Amino acid sequence: MSALRDVVDRSSRIVFFGGAGVSTESGIPDFRSAEGLYRRESGTRVPPEEVLGHRFFMRHPDEFYSYYKANLVHADAQPNAAHRGLASLERAGKLSAVITQNIDGLHQAAGSRRVLELHGSVHRNYCMECGKRFGLDAILAADDVPRCECGGVIRPDVVLYEEMLDERVMDEAIDELSRADTVIVGGTSLAVYPAAGLLQAFRGDNLVLINRDPTPYDRHATLVIPESIGATLGEFV
Ligand code: ZN
Repeated sequence: MSALRDVVDRSSRIVFFGGAGVSTESGIPDFRSAEGLYRRESGTRVPPEEVLGHRFFMRHPDEFYSYYKANLVHADAQPNAAHRGLASLERAGKLSAVITQNIDGLHQAAGSRRVLELHGSVHRNYCMECGKRFGLDAILAADDVPRCECGGVIRPDVVLYEEMLDERVMDEAIDELSRADTVIVGGTSLAVYPAAGLLQAFRGDNLVLINRDPTPYDRHATLVIPESIGATLGEFV
């Protein structure tokens, strides 16, 4: 911990890059561990990667939404010590951005202002016909497929499988990483796209990894902390 505090003390542009592990301490499971959707007609389970895909959503929005609401929307989840510690570092002028793969909005709920959501957010939704925007309440209030007053289907502003990441968000993430003096990575193995590629943009001095399991970047890191991310970043609240 004192080693991490030393790194933070001598940094002025920290970027945090986080994955699902940041929110598991808020009770949000990594959906990769979720079971697939059971389909009565085929008698088989559809894997999450397919249910949460663009094609499945367009063909079976009702089944998509029942799975999505049960597995990806956690309306009652609260920020944990990791989220709060990062918000404190931003307020202290130490941290310039949070880049997250999570869609739960918990960084903003903790007070973080500059949050780049690579995979979108369950809190933003829009009508596929007229573009009208809706909050999460519109999704939760619908018994099956949420619809706009115009009759169009409302979809979450979440990047589904088979869809491209938002180019503007990616560009901003690359820009933040390229200007950072320190990157703290937490709750992600860095094994999946786009995490590994994004880190290539980092040119700064300190790479800190907070992850219980080894990552491919461990040997490049200034500091590897195989501890709870909440306990580690909670030191900065
Ligand atoms: Zn509409």
